[in-house]
Amino acid sequence: MKGKYDVLVIGGGPAGALAGKTAAEKGLSALIVEKRPAIGAPVRCAEGIGKEALHEFIDPDPRWISADMTGATIVAPDGFVMKLGSEMAGSKVGYVLDRKIFDRELVWKATEAGADVAVKSRAAAPILENGYVRGAQIEYCGKTTEVKADVVIAADGVESKFSRWCGIDTTVPVREIMSSVQYVMTDIDIDEHSTVFYLGNDVAPEGYLWVFPKGKRCANVGIGISGKKSGSGHRAKDYLDRFVNKTFPDGKTIEYIPGGVSVCRPLDCTVADGLLIAGDAARVVDPLTGGGIYNAMYTGRLAAEVAAACIERGDVSKKALMQYDKAWRESKMGKAIERNYLIKEYLIKLPDTKLNDIIHSVSTINMKEFTTMNLIKEIIKANPKLVLELGALAASLR
Ligand SMILES: Cc1cc2nc3c(=O)[nH]c(=O)nc-3n(C[C@H](O)[C@H](O)[C@H](O)COP(=O)(O)OP(=O)(O)OC[C@H]3O[C@@H](n4cnc5c(N)ncnc54)[C@H](O)[C@@H]3O)c2cc1C
Repeated sequence: MKGKYDVLVIGGGPAGALAGKTAAEKGLSALIVEKRPAIGAPVRCAEGIGKEALHEFIDPDPRWISADMTGATIVAPDGFVMKLGSEMAGSKVGYVLDRKIFDRELVWKATEAGADVAVKSRAAAPILENGYVRGAQIEYCGKTTEVKADVVIAADGVESKFSRWCGIDTTVPVREIMSSVQYVMTDIDIDEHSTVFYLGNDVAPEGYLWVFPKGKRCANVGIGISGKKSGSGHRAKDYLDRFVNKTFPDGKTIEYIPGGVSVCRPLDCTVADGLLIAGDAARVVDPLTGGGIYNAMYTGRLAAEVAAACIERGDVSKKALMQYDKAWRESKMGKAIERNYLIKEYLIKLPDTKLNDIIHSVSTINMKEFTTMNLIKEIIKANPKLVLELGALAASLR
């Protein structure tokens, strides 16, 4: 670890790895600091990602792909099962990753590009000079070192503190934090090529429960419920245990993973003088699905591209860095977040009976390619009244 870099990246998740790799590829000196002793562990993720989304960043490698998904199943609150099979979904549905290896691979690629990495190294405070973020105090094995940088990229995940220390309001309302628990389970009867989503207020209030296969008779079985629905006797774990006892009574739990996912709108502004914020730290998780791996990689890469251009011009002011904020908001990803936030807000208010009707209405659809967007389009086609209801909701949220 040197005392000065062009770019200091806080966090060694997908956002930080892509930021470090891109900065190094642009010829900048870059350091990724990760507070945990190992990249990728412990995993706090169901590990699902769309194939095309992943291919945008990295070629698939069997070393970090646990399972190949060719179908998806949605179970309505009334138990009705809607299957989106491979004949409809093609082979494009997605992968379930092994993030312990995947995250490592991403950081490895960053180091191959020339970035430095330091594990067990926690950014404990920003270095601030004349209102600019100029680096961070890094704690490593009881010692604190100053690392200065022209630009800092905060990619410190959902529990992000760095941006708050720099004066940015990163608060997420309790109702918009999905309280999540996941078990890695073995010895369970599953379709090893299909993800399953269970919906309904008795199963997962204002959220969903998932079974994402990790191979033969093994899956991530998890749940996310709204923070405001969580309380004594009805926490995420209580719902999950009820489901597991009923559905997989003989299954064995080999890993227990608690976590939180923000399903709010992104931060109002994701830059400051000398600072860019990427991934979960910027609250760019898809509010409808809770998926954030792609968005983290996308914003991590973009943040480093903008940092490189601004460093070259010698202007890392908030005004100059704003092109990052503008670019991701105007991207397909940014627009999807805005649209899916609205749909999420609509869906969480629906009674189960209406959710049943919606799922029944699209039970015979035929999609060439299964994506969240295509499913939404089909739902709206089958329920044109929804456009008006969503329009009214959008107006009320403005
Ligand atoms: C239960 C659950 C299930 C999920 N399932 C999916 C899914 O199926 N698909 C999907 O796409 N997304 C899913 N997500 C979301 C996904 O995990 C995140 O969106 C993604 O990991 C975001 O990447 P990131 O790099 O922004 O943050 P992270 O992956 O969280 O990485 C941030 C890193 O920063 C480090 N860090 C934090 N503070 C500091 C500090 N001060 N100094 C140094 N290092 C620091 C952390 O230790 C961490 O390693 C899920 C999340 C949860 C909780």
